[in-house]
Amino acid sequence: MADERSRSEQEWKALLAPEQYRVLREKGTERAFSGRYWDHHEPGTYVCAGCREPLFGSQAKFDSGTGWPSFTTPVGPESVEGHEDRSLRMVRTETTCRRCGGHLGHVFDDGPAPGGLRYCINSAALDFVPDDALKTRNK
Ligand code: FE
Repeated sequence: MADERSRSEQEWKALLAPEQYRVLREKGTERAFSGRYWDHHEPGTYVCAGCREPLFGSQAKFDSGTGWPSFTTPVGPESVEGHEDRSLRMVRTETTCRRCGGHLGHVFDDGPAPGGLRYCINSAALDFVPDDALKTRNK
């Protein structure tokens, strides 16, 4: 298995689409309501666009009204890491992929009960794997 943590920026640039690179590797933010997944409601799993690590399940997705895909919780306790981010004169918690270190978005504490968290994630950092993907492949 490739070690995504040791990949050079040149390798990432060759692997990723420009918008994916800008978000994942340069900590960019896509425009609200512009991404593939803010209004996406199929059952399945959102994986990291950089390394395919499963990050969020569709059952944790909710309509936040922000224009970015929003989740109450990651798929596993260790799939997403949080880091203090003091850019743009705010204190926020940046979220990154545990496996490849790619920037995903931020997590805020104004989410729905009971957890109260809102993972605000860029579509460009995600790929979607539908629940029926395996079924379709085996046909
Ligand atoms: Fe990743």
